[in-house]
Amino acid sequence: MKIKVGVVGCLGRMGKATLAELIGNTKTEIVGAVTRSSSQYIGSDIGLIVGHNSNVGVKVTSSIYEICKLSDVIIDFTTRECVLDCLKTAMKLKKPLVSGTTGIDDINLSEYAAKAPILWSANMSVGVNILLKLVKKAAELLGNEYDVEIWEMHHSLKKDSPSGTALELGKTIASTLKVDFQVNQYLDHNIRQKGKIGFAVSRGGGVIGDHSVMFINSDERVELNHKAIDRKAFARGAVQAAIWLYENKREVPGLYSMQDVI
Ligand code: NAD
Repeated sequence: MKIKVGVVGCLGRMGKATLAELIGNTKTEIVGAVTRSSSQYIGSDIGLIVGHNSNVGVKVTSSIYEICKLSDVIIDFTTRECVLDCLKTAMKLKKPLVSGTTGIDDINLSEYAAKAPILWSANMSVGVNILLKLVKKAAELLGNEYDVEIWEMHHSLKKDSPSGTALELGKTIASTLKVDFQVNQYLDHNIRQKGKIGFAVSRGGGVIGDHSVMFINSDERVELNHKAIDRKAFARGAVQAAIWLYENKREVPGLYSMQDVI
């Protein structure tokens, strides 16, 4: 039997990429696709929306609750407000939820994960999750003596800054170096302060997502980089995460991440 998946934010850049990925996956079937109630696409078949050459038999709707009821697992790529709705609904219906929505640092995911299996990652790509492991190893080996700088670049429409991935990289380094991330992160580069984790942000055009982590001392610089070439990297990871969450944790409330999947 196929895993029934509902997609929230189905008309967004990531929503469309996720639908396309699900259509091509033999383990999953799409049972629902949700967008804002004001959308002109309510009632349209998702096949044509994602550029499939025929109807898929699933129409766009606006009810997160109804789609959550029909689904074995939900995938969300939306906004802070919408992910809150998804979390409340998943908790109420005790349904597994995969969310990649960023800019939600102030939401206490554990509160919802006490009642439902929730998998959240700032970056769903396998590559960035390998980068997180490499960065942790580099911080362990290099220690506190190197300045740490994190640079990220995204498309001009991105709402949050620095990106969730850049913050995740910074938090991983801070916890490895045993320093307080909240106190030691900074964006103002006028004068570099020793021991701080610096962030630099660029925005422009259609860049999907580049991240670079640099460890620098007076003699050398170690750089670890990741560049997303296609949104498929995130969508494929999200579908892999949904399958993992349903197959392994559907009865086990808790907060999971892509680090558990790869
Ligand atoms: P987008 O603006 O293209 O899409 C967001 C969609 O959410 C829009 O279509 C919007 O209509 C929909 N939406 C908003 N409120 C809604 C509601 N109440 N009900 C239903 N739909 C609603 O944005 P995007 O580029 O697809 O990114 C979405 C989020 O995913 C952002 O937070 C982004 O940073 C994040 N993201 C995460 C990853 C990852 O790997 N974790 C990768 C890329 C993007």
